[in-house]
Amino acid sequence: MSELIQEIVKRVDKVMEGNARPIPLHLPSFIGNEWKYVKECIDTGWVSSVGAYVDKFEKVTAEYTGAKYAVATVNGTAALHIALLMAGVKSGDEVLSPALTFIATTNAISYCNAVPHFIDVEEATMGIDAAKLREYLSKNFVKQGGSLVNKATGRRVGAVVGMHTFGFPFDLDGVLDVCKSFGVPLVEDAAESLGSYYKGKHTGTFGLVGTLSYNGNKTITTGGGGMILTNDEKIAKHAKHITTTAKVPHKWEYVHDEVGYNYRLPNLNAALGVAQMESLPGLIEKKRAIADRYIKAFAGLEGAKIFSEASDTKVNYWLNTLVLAKGKESLRDGLLTALIDAQIFSRPIWRPMHELQMFSQCPKADLSATESLCARVVNVPSSSHL
Ligand SMILES: *Cc1c(COP(=O)(O)O)cnc(C)c1O
Repeated sequence: MSELIQEIVKRVDKVMEGNARPIPLHLPSFIGNEWKYVKECIDTGWVSSVGAYVDKFEKVTAEYTGAKYAVATVNGTAALHIALLMAGVKSGDEVLSPALTFIATTNAISYCNAVPHFIDVEEATMGIDAAKLREYLSKNFVKQGGSLVNKATGRRVGAVVGMHTFGFPFDLDGVLDVCKSFGVPLVEDAAESLGSYYKGKHTGTFGLVGTLSYNGNKTITTGGGGMILTNDEKIAKHAKHITTTAKVPHKWEYVHDEVGYNYRLPNLNAALGVAQMESLPGLIEKKRAIADRYIKAFAGLEGAKIFSEASDTKVNYWLNTLVLAKGKESLRDGLLTALIDAQIFSRPIWRPMHELQMFSQCPKADLSATESLCARVVNVPSSSHL
């Protein structure tokens, strides 16, 4: 085994000292009123598609994030699907989105019958590279009758989707500036960044629409769930309508006025969410303390570093991220094996989207930073109880 792998495993092991093995990558934490609120749903019979906890979950999420409106959905992918529709993405459009993301971002684009168009990320943030995006748009797209059109394919650009990788905010100022100059809306996939801030403002509230996820491995969980964030009242109302089968409110009549979706979050899950939101500030403090231990443990090591927040951001440290130095790519698989052998469950970053069979024919920009990061990034255990 290489000396660097041994040294990294030793340092991660030291950070994880005192924890029972095996150590999973990320576990949920139910330390508050979860049982009480869920039991109340069962006791009262309000378990399904309507109930006070859905409204309450939306309210506390809007308050916490500073978004004017929050609309709960059955999962984060559904939230993204609707966010894209609300941003005006139409069948046959292209949606510019990072190749470095979880599959949900790209799947949601496909659900709109739009074409994902992959763009590169910055090594410093793991999110969209604004400068590269601007250069790419200037070169390959033209403004045509109020739309931005791909010169090669003739397709309109429906939106830019950014994703805050592992909770680290992307360059929001830079990307928003590009979106503004090209007249394209920004959708923020903030599934991983609940509790992360950019210049004092919560991620997911900068774009026209943003989305959160409460899957079991996220910072907080509702079992499964998602949220749409927006400051636009019309979008919020339409998002609520279309995610609840587009039923026209009436005491007894069943009339639906467009093709809607059954993307409602059940009250049972929302009850879990309300309890989790009460714990969220404390959980993030703990996660930030764990990140601090990792950062200190890796200080001064040549060959690998732990990703840390930029000065104008505050990060939830959803998943701590170890990055091997350039030239050390060949050690990644050995490192993962060694960590897992030590019962420290770690994982590589996702296979980038353009390398997946079903998206391999999609248009793409130069993706050199994406490819470089994919060969070097390893996530290490980050549960709040560690
Ligand atoms: C978790 C996640 C989602 C949403 O996933 P769901 O499991 O559908 O809630 C979307 N995008 C990213 C980047 C994610 O990590």
